[in-house]
Amino acid sequence: MNAVEKILRVLSIEDSEDDFELIRNELSLGGLVFVHKRVDNANALKAALVSAEWDVVICDHNLPALDSVSALQIVREKSNELPFVVVSGLIPDEMAIRVMRLGAGDFIRKDNLSRLVPVIEREIKQVIMQAELKTAKESLHHAAYFDSLTGLANREHLFSHIKNKISVAKHDHPFAIFLIDINRFRQITKSLGMLVGNKVLIETAERLREVFGNDCFVARLGADKFVAIVPGLSLEKNAEHLAKATHKILGKSFQIDEHELIVQASLGVGFYPRDGQKCEELYKNAESALYQAKIDGGNSYIVYDAKLDILGKERLHMETALYHALKEEQFVLFYQPQFDFSSGRLIGAEALIRWQHPVSGMISPGEFIPILEETGLIVPVGEWVLRTACAQNRQWQDAGLPPIVIAVNMSVIQFRQPGLPQTVRNILLQTGLSAQYLELEITENIAMHAEEGVIAILDELREIGIQIAIDDFGTGYSSLSYLKRFPIDRLKIDQSFVRDLKEGVNDDGIIKGIIGMGHSLKLRVIAEGVETPAQAEFLKLNNCDEMQGYLYGKPMSNLDFRTLLG
Ligand code: C2E
Ligand code: MG
Ligand code: MG
Repeated sequence: MNAVEKILRVLSIEDSEDDFELIRNELSLGGLVFVHKRVDNANALKAALVSAEWDVVICDHNLPALDSVSALQIVREKSNELPFVVVSGLIPDEMAIRVMRLGAGDFIRKDNLSRLVPVIEREIKQVIMQAELKTAKESLHHAAYFDSLTGLANREHLFSHIKNKISVAKHDHPFAIFLIDINRFRQITKSLGMLVGNKVLIETAERLREVFGNDCFVARLGADKFVAIVPGLSLEKNAEHLAKATHKILGKSFQIDEHELIVQASLGVGFYPRDGQKCEELYKNAESALYQAKIDGGNSYIVYDAKLDILGKERLHMETALYHALKEEQFVLFYQPQFDFSSGRLIGAEALIRWQHPVSGMISPGEFIPILEETGLIVPVGEWVLRTACAQNRQWQDAGLPPIVIAVNMSVIQFRQPGLPQTVRNILLQTGLSAQYLELEITENIAMHAEEGVIAILDELREIGIQIAIDDFGTGYSSLSYLKRFPIDRLKIDQSFVRDLKEGVNDDGIIKGIIGMGHSLKLRVIAEGVETPAQAEFLKLNNCDEMQGYLYGKPMSNLDFRTLLG
C-alpha cells in the first residue's frame, strides 16, 4: 500500500467487538500498518477526538447509543477534513444518502468489506492532496503579495492596501506615506556584488520594520525603494520624528560578511488626504518629494509641497539642456591662479567649469554639477574638463610660458569608474602634457567615505606621476591617522575657515591646526578663498605654503590667464 506509508491511526465507532475484529483483520489483510481504537458512544468519541490525532474514522451505522449521522456531526465539529467511512449491515438507501451528503466519504456494506482498504486509501490521498493544494494556494498568494527577498509586502499589495485604506477611511482617517530610497545602492551591488546587496536589503527591511512597528504597513518596491504607511499620522512634526528615527537606524553601519557599510537614505513623505485624494496621486506626490530629497543628497527628507512639481519640471528641463551642452560645446573652463607665499610666484591654476548657456548666460558649477553627477553625465563632462585643461596647459608651455601645475576637480562618480587611471594616461599622452603638471582635486568627503577601490585608484594615479590634493579640507572630520592612509600631496583649506578670519584673528585655531597637521605629514597646504590682505597676512604668518583667492585673481578666461602668466 503506497498512499499511506505511515502508521495509520484508525478510530472505530463500533459496538460489536466481533465487527471491530473483522475490520481489524481486513485492514491487516490490506497490508496497512495501523493503530486501532474502538469507541461506542458520544462521550467516548469526543474524548478520543480530543486525546489523539486520527487519520480515518470508521463508523457503524446504528449503535445502541449513537447513530452515524450524530457521530459524523461530532467528528466534523473537531475536523472538516478527517475522512469518515460508514461500515454497516443493512441501511436504508435514504439514510446512506443522508450520511454521505453530510460529508461521509463512503458507505461500505459489511458483506463487502474488501472495499474498505481501497476506500481508506482513496480518502487519505484526497486529504493529502487537499493539504498540498492549500499550501500551494498559500504560497501562490504569498508570491503574489509579498516580496520574496525581504518578506515585506510587494507593490501590488501596497497599492491594494492604500486603495483599501482610502475607500474605507474616506477623509476621517489620515495617514502618511513614507518613500525610502537607499542612496548609491547600485554602487553597492556594482562593487560588492548582488549577494551583498541582497543582504543589505534584507537588513534594511528588518530595520524599517523595527522603526515603523506593527501598526504600520511596510513594503518593498523594486530594487532599493521601500514604502511605509503610517496610520493616523497627519502632522509634519511627527513625520519628521519618524524620518529622523529612520535615518538613525539606517545610519548604523551594516556588517555584511567582511564588509562594513554605511548606508544613507532619502525620504519623501506625503499625507492623505492633504497631498492626494487618490492612491495614484498621493503616491506620485510622495515620489516627487523623494526625488527632491535625492537631489539634496545625503540623509535628507522632504515632505511633499506643490512647489516641488515646478522644481521637478525645471530640473527635467535642465537635464535635457545639459545633454545638449556637452554636444554643442557650451562648457568652458576658467582658470584661477595659485601663488606661492614665500616667492610670490604663480605656480598653478585651478580649472573651474562654467556653462555658457545660449539664453541664460554664464551658469556656475554649483548649479549643474549635482545634476551631472545624478545623471552620470559627469563622466563624459569630467573627461572633457580633464582633456581641455591638460591641452590648455600644454599650449601655454608650448608658447614658452613658465610651466605651472593645472588642478582639475574630480567628482566621486569619476573615481568609481574602473578605467579612470587609463583615461588619465590616455589624455596625458594625447595632449602631450607631462604628468607632473597635472593635479587632481578630490573633496575631503570623497576621501572620508572612500571605498577601498578609491585608494587603489589614487595609488595608481600617483604612480603615473600625478599629484593629488584634498579639496575643501577641514569640513569633514579627518584625523591625522586617517590622512596618513591617503596617497596625497596637498591640502586645500576650505574657504569657510579663511572667510572666518576677521582682521587676521583666528579664534579657534583651526587653520593653524590644519597647517600643522599637513606639515607633519609632509604635505603642502594651500588656502583658498583669500579675499583680504589681512587674511593673507595671517596665513603667511602661520606658514601656509600657497594661496588662491579673489585677492590675487578671480577665475578667468584662458586668454586673461595667459596674459597673467606671461
Ligand atoms: P572648489 O573646487 O572649492 O573651487 C573653488 C571655488 O571657490 C570656485 O567656485 C571659485 O570661483 C571660488 N573662489 C575662489 N576664490 C574665491 C574667493 O576669494 N572668494 C570666494 N567667495 N570664492 C572664491 P566655482 O567656480 O563656482 O566652483 C564651485 C565648485 O564647483 C568648486 O569648488 C568645485 O567643487 C566644483 N567644480 C568646478 N569645476 C568643476 C569641474 O570641472 N568638475 C567638478 N567635478 N567639479 C567642479
Ligand atoms: Mg577645487
Ligand atoms: Mg574648495
